[in-house]
Amino acid sequence: MTLSTADTHRLDDFWQHCLKHQFFNIGYPENADFDYSALERFLRFSINNCGDWSEHSNYVLNSFDFEKEVMAYFADLFEIPREDSWGYVTNGGTEGNMFGCYLARELFPDGTLYYSKDTHYSVAKIVKLLRIKCRAVNALPTGEIDYDDLLAKIAADGERHPIIFANIGTTMRGAVDDIAVIQQRLQDAGIARRDYYLHADAALSGMILPFVDAPQPFTFADGIDSICVSGHKMIGSPIPCGIVVAKRRNVARISVEVDYISASDKTISGSRNGHTPMIMWAALRSHSSAQWRRRVERSLAAAQYAVNRLQAGGVKAWRNPNSITVVFPCPSADIARKYGLATSGDTAHLITTPHHRDNRAIDALIDEVIADARPEVWRATLQRSWQGSAQRLPRTASWNQAAGLGRF
Ligand SMILES: *Cc1c(COP(=O)(O)O)cnc(C)c1O
Repeated sequence: MTLSTADTHRLDDFWQHCLKHQFFNIGYPENADFDYSALERFLRFSINNCGDWSEHSNYVLNSFDFEKEVMAYFADLFEIPREDSWGYVTNGGTEGNMFGCYLARELFPDGTLYYSKDTHYSVAKIVKLLRIKCRAVNALPTGEIDYDDLLAKIAADGERHPIIFANIGTTMRGAVDDIAVIQQRLQDAGIARRDYYLHADAALSGMILPFVDAPQPFTFADGIDSICVSGHKMIGSPIPCGIVVAKRRNVARISVEVDYISASDKTISGSRNGHTPMIMWAALRSHSSAQWRRRVERSLAAAQYAVNRLQAGGVKAWRNPNSITVVFPCPSADIARKYGLATSGDTAHLITTPHHRDNRAIDALIDEVIADARPEVWRATLQRSWQGSAQRLPRTASWNQAAGLGRF
């Protein structure tokens, strides 16, 4: 490639920018702890996965074989027999949510979609694009859906085919809607299993819950009809991507034969990224289940550490079970801007993604949040540490050692 000197400088500048900020992220769930250098050489090819990876395609430069293995992995992980499932590598959580909602609407064209007010903003776009009737349901203070309000709204609408958009980890509070309670309540209301659809938005927590000891229910075995996960969140990817898994018989309803590519099309976009299935494949092939588990444990421990430190500093921080999202009252706008915090109303959060190998970034933010919220507590803390008191709050390296946490 020939670029002018000026353009080369621009790229060099952006390279420095990327190097400097690669681990900046503490307010968003993108994990930067990955190494896909083994795949870099494939960037010179126009790999395209248009169509269905399980069929033959005339477009020879596809990575279907890799996508097939990725989907087998997630079918196993989300407890659905491979032969009963179908899914694909998407452009991200939003496309996966859209795919799930699309299947639901084809099944129940007049059904109303119910989602809690804590649901990711993508749902608003999706119901508009798909022209699905929808109803926002109240959220509980934890961020879970208000089950009473859900059932009250279904009853008030006289809805016989509800489409339930369940959060498996909300964006702001990491809350998991209890799909066991939802299913029980629907059954109690006289709505049979075949008469509703249950989609699970597991953008972040879909790669956390499979690796904890006591997960909330979230799999096909627990009753879902489809699920999506973002690939660039807990797994980590240089290119945004995701995974969606659904029931094969529901997907068959939307399949279209396309003679142009000599394959059937079930996916939302036409041409599909051929590199991201390889990225997901490499991530899954290079980490054992024990390694994912360790990684999740480390992130959960860091989240609890942040809760403890903030609470000790007088800040009302908390987190949901099995969540790496630490919720606390919104700090001043300066701090929110400096740390790139995502805030909503009077709430902020930090997310202890796996690239926070030590607690340096977490500590820096917490120090400022405490100083901002409770200056008197902060002064007292500093005084104690100046006096060399053993009460000094636990710090990065020593805390990591104490918790027995090494590199992933
Ligand atoms: C991030 C997120 C999404 C959207 O995922 P993208 O990969 O950004 O499209 C959807 N739902 C939840 C709960 C999320 O956190």
